[in-house]
Amino acid sequence: MKFSEMYAQSYPILSVELFPPKTEKGWGNLYRRLSHLKGLPLQFVSVTYGAGGSIRDRTLELTQKVRESIGVTSVPHFTLIGAGKEQIRKFLHESIAQGAENIVALRGDIPKNTLDFPIPSDGFQHANELVAFIRNETDALDIGVAGYPEGHTECRDLVTDMENLKRKVDAGATIVITQLFYDNTDFFRFRERAVKTGVTVPIVAGIMPIVKFSQIKRITSMCGASIPKHLYDTLTKYDMDSAEQRMAGIEYAINQARNLLENDVVGLHIYSLNKWRTVTKLLEGVQDLIEQEN
Ligand SMILES: Cc1cc2nc3c(=O)[nH]c(=O)nc-3n(C[C@H](O)[C@H](O)[C@H](O)COP(=O)(O)OP(=O)(O)OC[C@H]3O[C@@H](n4cnc5c(N)ncnc54)[C@H](O)[C@@H]3O)c2cc1C
Repeated sequence: MKFSEMYAQSYPILSVELFPPKTEKGWGNLYRRLSHLKGLPLQFVSVTYGAGGSIRDRTLELTQKVRESIGVTSVPHFTLIGAGKEQIRKFLHESIAQGAENIVALRGDIPKNTLDFPIPSDGFQHANELVAFIRNETDALDIGVAGYPEGHTECRDLVTDMENLKRKVDAGATIVITQLFYDNTDFFRFRERAVKTGVTVPIVAGIMPIVKFSQIKRITSMCGASIPKHLYDTLTKYDMDSAEQRMAGIEYAINQARNLLENDVVGLHIYSLNKWRTVTKLLEGVQDLIEQEN
């Protein structure tokens, strides 16, 4: 189902992000556990586009597997870094041939070693150009783009960052999915600023339960999301990456999700890090609110 139909039907829309593993062992584990997602009330699963090398080619392998084994709408991500028009076209048409009706269109992070990513002369600089290219190329795909409640790391001026988000929507994006955040106030302010700027498409809240705090510290420092002091203090009461810390992290995510749902969020996109139990626990923790809405 296309994003435009999905978000026009009922709220909240629940979705999960998966990533293609780096090792064959990881793929084996992923495929064995994929069926766990089957019983969950998910409207779509999205699959990230790897930072480089052979992983990139495996996004469509995983979207296809998700479609076959869970039977849910499956959405590939694509990043423009290092891609020329022909490569983009190829990815779009392979996605469509496979059954994709949506895509998440991104610039990608600028790699430290640019030798791995030569910039093609017919490539793009920013995601709004990729969105425009996709729109021009096909009507078969609805388009999700990234939004940053705390601002993108390269653009700490929130007004400019929002104008740049609007460029993506004006170019044809159907929904905005936010970067992860741990303070809902950041999301609510972002949503307000978006509406004031004229961003009228659905804004989906991206949340990442803290299962392994050491890993989340790394991720947040890279993507520019902050960890509020009260959450930091709670988590550091426990040993790093202990079961108790994980439970506190999941409890925080449940409360965060409940508060978002109580404040009319149109959808929750769960950055799962391929951890089923966390997704299941989180969804169990908000089940009563979802049933009320539907
Ligand atoms: C929902 C979501 C999914 C993601 N999935 C992936 C993934 O699968 N693979 C991956 O590698 N990364 C992924 N990322 C990370 C993303 O690629 C990075 O955050 C990247 O640094 C920015 O991508 P973007 O699409 O937001 O870029 P852009 O929208 O191009 O923005 C990048 C920066 O440029 C500025 N900018 C934007 N447009 C213009 C313009 N026209 N002129 C001047 N400045 C401009 C923005 O303000 C921002 O600072 C994801 C992020 C999110 C939130």
